[in-house]
Amino acid sequence: MFDFRSDTVTLPTDAMRQAMAHADVGDDVYGDDPTVNALEQQAAEMAGFEAALFTCSGTQANLLALMAHCERGDEYLCGQDAHNYKFEGGGAAVLGSIQPQPIENEADGSLPLAKLAAAIKPDDIHFARTRLISLENTIGGQPLSMAYLAQAQAFAFERGLKLHLDGARVFNAAVAQGVSLADIAQHFDSFTICLSKGLCAPVGSLLVGDEALINKARRWRKVLGGGMRQAGILAAAGQLALTQQVARLADDHANAAYLAEGLAGLSGVRVEACHTNMVFAEFTYSDLDSLNIYLLNGGFKLSLNRGRATRMVLHKDITRAGVEALLAALTRFEQEAKG
Ligand SMILES: *Cc1c(COP(=O)(O)O)cnc(C)c1O
Repeated sequence: MFDFRSDTVTLPTDAMRQAMAHADVGDDVYGDDPTVNALEQQAAEMAGFEAALFTCSGTQANLLALMAHCERGDEYLCGQDAHNYKFEGGGAAVLGSIQPQPIENEADGSLPLAKLAAAIKPDDIHFARTRLISLENTIGGQPLSMAYLAQAQAFAFERGLKLHLDGARVFNAAVAQGVSLADIAQHFDSFTICLSKGLCAPVGSLLVGDEALINKARRWRKVLGGGMRQAGILAAAGQLALTQQVARLADDHANAAYLAEGLAGLSGVRVEACHTNMVFAEFTYSDLDSLNIYLLNGGFKLSLNRGRATRMVLHKDITRAGVEALLAALTRFEQEAKG
């Protein structure tokens, strides 16, 4: 089976399973797990930051960031399409008493500074207190430009706001742009990384920030039930995610570009520009149910959408041969539909 639905489906490598089996562990709630401590330190050093926190998911890492930056009655500005607004169950509002103020994303995923400026609330008892801007990189498979990051940082500083990055796929942005994690991270007060997507760890994310912020987040993590004990078993895979899987993302990007190019040659497919490991394309065939069965029987899992683009995500467990096989299957389907 080649699963194109997401890079969350990646399986841990053999090296990860070995490292997990032999990891030194302790009770991380006491701060006694050497492998978790090493992973947190490794991430902070890579980013040029003071501290980091290992969390069970990207959703939890984002929520902890919002709850550490904001108090009850504060608000954060984010994109309408932001994962930490649209796809996290409203957690900031539900669990943090923090109001989201969404702003329409530009086509490139950025939030226009003029719209951010207009959304900042005056200091007045009628309004929530605007505290934070949250960006996402990559967003919809696109890296935010380095120039925009610098502009957003200067804007947030001028307005006395903090700047957070949902960097679930920040390493895809770094690899695609030929920059380091620190080059991107330097523009932010905090950011998250998912270890369990393209980086192939089975579980886990990181929140990175200064020591005061991470201490607050560590407290909230415990409150939310996210304090894990011998979590070094998981952190051991996370360490290899950071050391062995980052450069490999370039292969996923090359396979995505190859898939996009192949799809462009099919008459029933409208493919969008491809930037990292995601390809967005609309399948315009009248019988998508047949296509779905056809692909499943051929060994391909896709989340097909009708009337809008379908997202296909490239990752470690889809080889170039897997992409070629999908393109061959789609070509056969198109020919059979015509014939
Ligand atoms: C996947 C993802 C998350 C959340 O990660 P989970 O580990 O699935 O909770 C957050 N933000 C973005 C942009 C993501 O793609």
